[in-house]
Amino acid sequence: MDEFRISDKGPVFLPGKLIGIGRNYAKHAKELGNALPEQPMVFLKPASSLIGTGQDIVLPKMSQDIHHEVELVVLIGTRAKNISTQHALDYVAGYAVGLDMTARDLQNEAKAKGFPWSVAKGFDTFAPLGPFVASSKVADPQDLQIELKINGEIRQSGSTSDMIFPVTELISWCSQIFTLMPGDLIYTGTPEGVSQVHVGDRLEASINGFPTLHVGVRSE
Ligand code: MG
Repeated sequence: MDEFRISDKGPVFLPGKLIGIGRNYAKHAKELGNALPEQPMVFLKPASSLIGTGQDIVLPKMSQDIHHEVELVVLIGTRAKNISTQHALDYVAGYAVGLDMTARDLQNEAKAKGFPWSVAKGFDTFAPLGPFVASSKVADPQDLQIELKINGEIRQSGSTSDMIFPVTELISWCSQIFTLMPGDLIYTGTPEGVSQVHVGDRLEASINGFPTLHVGVRSE
C-alpha cells in the first residue's frame, strides 16, 4: 500500500486517471436541479489536481464560485477490464475520503453551452485526497457515514448507502469504458449540502473509520 499513500508534500505517485461520477446521490442531483441519471455519469479529473491532507485548495481567479463535494474515493489495485459487479470489489486496493472541488459557475456555463466539465473540475488542487484505508478493513463500502465540516460546522452529512450506483456498479461500468489500472481513483459522487468555499476556510472531510482529510483554502 505504501506506494499509493499521499504524503504531506503531495502525492507520491500519479495515478493514470481520476474518474469522477456525477449525480450519484438523488438529493444532490435535486439540489442542483438535475435529472437522475439512468447510467453512471462519468467524467475525468487530471492527476495534477491531487493534493494531500494538510495542503491548501488554491482558488483560481477564473472562478467566483468554487464548491466542495465530499466523496468516497476508490483506489484500484489490479488491472480491470469488463468486470462484473459480482467481482468488482476484488479489484479495489483501498478507500479514502476525498473532495471533488468544482468551479460551479464555470460548470453551469459549460452545461449551458454543451461544453465538457474538464475546466470546472480540473484546476490544480481540485482533488484533495485523504490517506487510504486497505479494502480488507472496509466490510461494506455502501455502509459508510460521510461528512464535511467547514470551520468546525457540518455542511454535508450523508451515507454511502444512498448512492444511486454502488461502488460495484461503478467499477463494472467504468471497466467497460476504460481499462482500470492500479493507482486509478474513482470519486464516487457527493451527497447533498454542497456550497461555496472561501479564502481562510478550514475543511475537514471524514468517513467513519478513515483518517480525516484536512485542507485549507487560499487565493491564487
Ligand atoms: Mg462530485
